[in-house]
Amino acid sequence: MLDYNASVLLIYTGGTIGMTEDAETGVLKSFDFGYLKEHVPELSRLKFNIDNIPFERPIDSSDMGPEEWKKIVRIIEENYDRYDGFVILQGTDTMAYSASALSFMLESLNKPVILTGSQLPIGKIRTDGKENLITALEIAVDKNPAGRALAPEVCIFFQNLLMRGNRTTKINAANFKAFNSLNYPILAEAGTYIRYKPELIRYPPEHSRTKFHYLLDTNVAIIKLFPGISPATLKSIIAIPNLKGIVLETYGAGNAPSESWFLDIIEEGVKKGIVVVNVTQCASGSVEMNRYQAGKTLKDIGVLSGYDTTTEAAVTKLMFLFGHGLSKSQVEEQMKASLAGETTVD
Ligand code: ASP
Repeated sequence: MLDYNASVLLIYTGGTIGMTEDAETGVLKSFDFGYLKEHVPELSRLKFNIDNIPFERPIDSSDMGPEEWKKIVRIIEENYDRYDGFVILQGTDTMAYSASALSFMLESLNKPVILTGSQLPIGKIRTDGKENLITALEIAVDKNPAGRALAPEVCIFFQNLLMRGNRTTKINAANFKAFNSLNYPILAEAGTYIRYKPELIRYPPEHSRTKFHYLLDTNVAIIKLFPGISPATLKSIIAIPNLKGIVLETYGAGNAPSESWFLDIIEEGVKKGIVVVNVTQCASGSVEMNRYQAGKTLKDIGVLSGYDTTTEAAVTKLMFLFGHGLSKSQVEEQMKASLAGETTVD
């Protein structure tokens, strides 16, 4: 049910949706919010109120990171009581990381925070940006008959799918279906109606207070295994001063080489106090470290299972947990739990 007295805050950070082509070079460059509004006149026909706060300098999402995530959380916190929902426009390249980070930074959310963008700039006739933006705005104000938001989560809406943000991955650099949520079902599908699946959506306990978090620690790394990875590469990562967490992207169900040099280096890292989390390189499925010897050995030397967590969610969760000063064992405990629906816990 659309609430026509509702208000949405649109936070424009940049990305293709607001870019224009340089006439000489054809290179896409960011434009300001006025340009975006001019190209989506439909915005003024929506019956609810839309305010906007653009980033002073719109950026390509390759430049998004912890500082920009904090800026977004600050904007949401300062405006939380005034709006029914929030839509964040950003580039698609790092949108799954932003959505994952925001899902941890915005605890007990009771209003929708929907990220969207587009593959084609809004000024292009075939743009996917208009549909994405307009439907994301509608989702941000959609409520049940009791007046509660239908999707009070950090989500990505893209093409026609509403997905839990910390379950998403960018799967295509050109197709309009740029994202998928391969280890968790879609939260809503937009066709002639927007069909929500309330049984899959997280609703905070009534009267719980939303908490806004700003602490992130970037002393983390991602190691993607590949056949032929050298001891020197691995050693140099383990030796990074102050490194606290590693997301180890392994093969299949969480398998890694069984050679002793490999296991010795990883074990050295674990013994130094680094939390090593095992996630799969596969697009879907879960790590099962007891299934093969090649996974069991990792478990025996102290590597944690990331289960079905995406790399994007695992790395931002480590930043969040270490940012809050948790000890190694506390971080390990939390990595086994689901904080914002990012992991399927048995
Ligand atoms: N490079 C762009 C960005 O992520 C791509 C996009 O917007 O989809 O900012």
